[in-house]
Amino acid sequence: MTTQPLTSSHPSQLTLKFWGVRGSYPVPGSATLRYGGNTPSLEITARNENHTFTLILDAGTGIIGLGRELAQRAKAMRGQSGGTPIEATLLFTHLHHDHTQGLPFFTPLMIPTARLTFVLPDLYEQNPQEVLAGVMASPTFPVALAQTASGKQFLTLRETGVLLIGPEGVRADYPPLEVPANTLIVRALRSYAHPQGVLIYRIEWEGHSIVIATDTEGYVKGDQRLIRFARGADILVHDAQYTDEHYLGLKPGLPSTQGFGHSTPAMATEVAQQAGVGQLILFHHDPNYDDETLATMELLAQKRFPNTRTAREGMEIPLGHPADEDHPRAGAQKDKPRRPRPAQWVSQKPAHA
Ligand SMILES: [Zn+2]
Ligand SMILES: [Zn+2]
Repeated sequence: MTTQPLTSSHPSQLTLKFWGVRGSYPVPGSATLRYGGNTPSLEITARNENHTFTLILDAGTGIIGLGRELAQRAKAMRGQSGGTPIEATLLFTHLHHDHTQGLPFFTPLMIPTARLTFVLPDLYEQNPQEVLAGVMASPTFPVALAQTASGKQFLTLRETGVLLIGPEGVRADYPPLEVPANTLIVRALRSYAHPQGVLIYRIEWEGHSIVIATDTEGYVKGDQRLIRFARGADILVHDAQYTDEHYLGLKPGLPSTQGFGHSTPAMATEVAQQAGVGQLILFHHDPNYDDETLATMELLAQKRFPNTRTAREGMEIPLGHPADEDHPRAGAQKDKPRRPRPAQWVSQKPAHA
């Protein structure tokens, strides 16, 4: 197996796009136009001069719009070059309803040439593939997942596993392992601060890194395991569902949400600060909150960690693009620790090991 050191003649990009940012259930309507009302789904695209890989995190209702766009892109490519089938990896943090409810309406499922790899967290007593199949099963849905036209394979990922997405395909492996060049790496950390558990992911591509920590509740002085895991990441996407008042039960008409498995912006900024990440994105917004509330939460969070933004549908964050060099870390603390960039990928141990 060969490895390839990073050079300036080897342009590489990692792009994160938000298709659904809302927790619990979708909230369409005028009060959520700015940030969006769809439940979680994120698109991560890793690209270099040789390859492009599409990774989809979670299948909340946001995945419906993403599916339509993937189908359109494939159609446009067919016109140009005679056909590029949709190829994507669908990675799930956990299988709660708000992270799977868009799957039945994900257009590529129905496209015979589409090649989809489902990667499911090994968190349950039941087989996770059977749990996912329950999202599309008679009599609550007319078409079973197994009956859809696309080509599908299923993998399971445990906390100690590493997912490798490369030219040879997708596989889950366990350290120590050799990582070939042109490979998108996903490491996992299990959080116990959410009912039934959840996997937090660190996605790494040629010197760029994104940590997705949704559906997790913070701890006093920060979740130290997560802080180690997220150390120096370019982007940390962190659950920030509740205001402090709501979390503590001080918001009229709403009970305390302590122990529900979700965080406040203060908990998210604590992790971002201690982990020294490049930027923090607040995620998994409460369905009770309107745009104004989310904007206020963003401002308060920026006082604690300046390079913070609130996730909104359609937001796209490129890492490694030429334009990115001008203002990627605008507002980031200049003297904060940075993640050392490995010269090669061979036998790299997980950050949390
Ligand atoms: Zn959720
Ligand atoms: Zn959940």
